[in-house]
Amino acid sequence: MTKEVSETGWNFDNSYARLPKVFFTSQNPTPVQSPKIAIFNKSLAISLGLDVQNLQSEEGAAVFAGNKIPEGASPLAQAYAGHQFGHFTMLGDGRAVLIGEQITPTGERFDIQLKGSGRTPYSRGGDGRAAIGPMLREYIISEAIYCLGIPTTRSLAVVTTGEEIARESYLPGAILTRVAASHLRVGTFQYAARWGSEGELLELADYAIKRHYPKVEGAENRYLSFLQEVINCQAMLLAKWQLVGFIHGVMNTDNMTISGETIDYGPCAFMDTYDPATVFSSIDREGRYAYGNQPNIGVWNLARLAEALLPLLHENQEEAVTLAQDKLSDFAQLFESNWLEGMRAKLGIFNVEENDKSLIKDLLDMMQKHRADYTNTFRALTLNKPEETILHGTTEFTQWLEQWQARLGRQQGSKDTSIQLMRNSNPAVIPRNHRVEEALEAANNGDYSVMEGLLEALSNPYAYSSEQMEYAALPAASPRPYRTFCGT
Ligand code: AMP
Ligand code: MG
Repeated sequence: MTKEVSETGWNFDNSYARLPKVFFTSQNPTPVQSPKIAIFNKSLAISLGLDVQNLQSEEGAAVFAGNKIPEGASPLAQAYAGHQFGHFTMLGDGRAVLIGEQITPTGERFDIQLKGSGRTPYSRGGDGRAAIGPMLREYIISEAIYCLGIPTTRSLAVVTTGEEIARESYLPGAILTRVAASHLRVGTFQYAARWGSEGELLELADYAIKRHYPKVEGAENRYLSFLQEVINCQAMLLAKWQLVGFIHGVMNTDNMTISGETIDYGPCAFMDTYDPATVFSSIDREGRYAYGNQPNIGVWNLARLAEALLPLLHENQEEAVTLAQDKLSDFAQLFESNWLEGMRAKLGIFNVEENDKSLIKDLLDMMQKHRADYTNTFRALTLNKPEETILHGTTEFTQWLEQWQARLGRQQGSKDTSIQLMRNSNPAVIPRNHRVEEALEAANNGDYSVMEGLLEALSNPYAYSSEQMEYAALPAASPRPYRTFCGT
């Protein structure tokens, strides 16, 4: 069956809507007063096969606001559950609707979701809306993560709604169009296990396999292989976060995808001074989601996925538990091998030696002790300007540099290969908290140029171009630590 692609390029399929009814509620977005595009991601639109010209107009604003439903879309709110800070709760899209799955010209499938689109049956006490600040923040950071080469949902547009929403004060309302490989979460499986029948759980698992891991369809125990694949992808993702110093901030099980993409940019931020205990989120008082704890939480969340899948893993529950535990126990090693490989690359090392881990650990320990900036320390090493780090001049750093140089000497290949590897592994720029705040403040006053400049600098973080250098600068010392808030 061939289907016409609409003039504007929308080419929807709605496979999620064909799942059992327990998994969603059909729901249109609630129209807003006067939608206006705040920011629009042209290159993403092109890759999705959309008509940029058309979408930049009033027509686009109406679509991204949910005032106009494009042809072929079938809006729905997804049901899911999740552990929030360790406590199990029924959740669901309380302020989002999936309008459909866009099939791109190359045949890929992406969820198109409007976030901030009004109340749904899962809204609980919430208003279903979002404020401009957190939506633009999600836009900036998700695009930065994408450009760093880390799997993530992306942002197609942010529109302002012309309506005010009540928070601590009245704020301009906004809607973010989020693009994702899918919005299947660990929490979707928890929901199925708790409130669906075993048949429904099985349908969900088959759906996820077909959509994300078709290669396991023929496996002997496909659900176990599926669990293994999710564990692999999350181990890789977590290692990538750690390597760039990204702190997600709210790794609840509803915020962990089955596809292995980063999702839900609420209180996230990049670490500046290296300290595994770093927490930015104002609500994470106990440091559950601290930088250094992210891998542990990753495997904790995966254990919740495994629990949900137990009935599918083996008919005997004890056997099922043994199988799941066996897979979960691989996580630590998988994470570490991804992380070690990445750390070696950050130091220009492309062969393997037993002692590499201690060389890396020594550097990190020094960074922690002297409160060195994580990104800029690696950047200084990449640029061969160790004098630019605050570690410079200490005996331990001098000795470490000698050991590192000796280590580099024990590999085949030119110095240039090492330098190139470092340049490709150590971002010259990250979305620094003060720069993000500055861009949001300007946008709040109607000036989007600051944000556009920042996005441009972040679009190729490994360029080491002269234009982006100013974005590498640290903020002036602040008496108060940086704090982030959940994007409500
Ligand atoms: P999050 O912290 O973004 O992962 O959201 C957790 C849950 O709260 C999800 O079920 C959201 O849909 C819901 N939620 C967050 N903000 C709102 C809001 N303003 N109105 C309704 N539901 C919300
Ligand atoms: Mg969430």
